[in-house]
Amino acid sequence: MGEEKTLIGNLNQKLQWVCLLLTYRCTSECSHCFTSSSTHKDDPMKLSEAQEYLEEAKRVGARRVWLFGGEPFFYFDLLLSIVESAKQLGLEVTTTSNAFWATSEESAVRRLCPLKEKGLEYISFSADPFH
Ligand code: SF4
Repeated sequence: MGEEKTLIGNLNQKLQWVCLLLTYRCTSECSHCFTSSSTHKDDPMKLSEAQEYLEEAKRVGARRVWLFGGEPFFYFDLLLSIVESAKQLGLEVTTTSNAFWATSEESAVRRLCPLKEKGLEYISFSADPFH
């Protein structure tokens, strides 16, 4: 019998990362934005949807999840819950933000500490003259 090749089987061998785009809403409207995010959109992913995607990702062998948008920090409670769900599944979690919420050390700590407690391991910032 020949080797059975399925989409899931192939993913199982190769998939490392899964990216969840939590929203197309952003504080900016950068001309280079590859998700065409904007200030007018208000369309967060539902927590139940995100949990389904995370479970599926885990099933097919993913080890890490990257949460971005748009600006995932617009829906901070949702972000916290998704980080927690991913961590419970044993996934490594990272996110990206343009840091619009980091207007002072105090406000930055107010967001970053709970995320770290829920299991966030990495964060990258899209904050430069192009954003
Ligand atoms: S800050 Fe990032 S997500 Fe927001 S519009 Fe610019 S490139 Fe897109």
